[in-house]
Amino acid sequence: MAKKFVRAIFPGSFDPFTNGHLDVVNRSIRLFDELIIAVGRSPIKNQLFSPEERVEMITELLEEKKMPDVLVESFEGLTVEYARQRKADVILRGLRSLTDVQYEFQLAMTNRAVAGIETVFIMTSEQYGFTSSTLIREIASLGGDLTNLIPQNIRERLKKRLNK
Ligand code: ADP
Repeated sequence: MAKKFVRAIFPGSFDPFTNGHLDVVNRSIRLFDELIIAVGRSPIKNQLFSPEERVEMITELLEEKKMPDVLVESFEGLTVEYARQRKADVILRGLRSLTDVQYEFQLAMTNRAVAGIETVFIMTSEQYGFTSSTLIREIASLGGDLTNLIPQNIRERLKKRLNK
């Protein structure tokens, strides 16, 4: 069988991008020919960084880690609509725990029902099973140590933002 080029999108808020997200990217990249980290421009969530800043930080990180098959961009609106525009074959999502499964299952079923697109799940390494962007923002605002939880360039940005 001829090998098909497989493009995946990894949609999320990534506010900020964590080592858990990076772990999912590292594990999944072998499965796809191209991966696009897609930063959602959600109007609902409380944002720490603007979508542009998040894209910039992730770009910096991908350059540092030398990952040419991973791209990053932001998108607005429905994930499935964005997937269609970018001709993505699959949606990638990360799983940390059984709590994630319930929500992600519902999301994946809905996306499949409305757009016929499949979702591929990658389980994170145990060490990041408790890492969430929300907790990172809380720990950072209280001056906690985030050394093992987020990449260094993002830690520096976070420090600067909270010192303002
Ligand atoms: P969203 O608002 O779309 O959930 P997030 O940035 O919180 O955006 O998460 C994007 C994706 O990454 C989701 O599939 C989420 O389950 C997954 N994810 C978040 N944190 C981790 C982590 N520590 N390990 C693995 N996957 C994670």
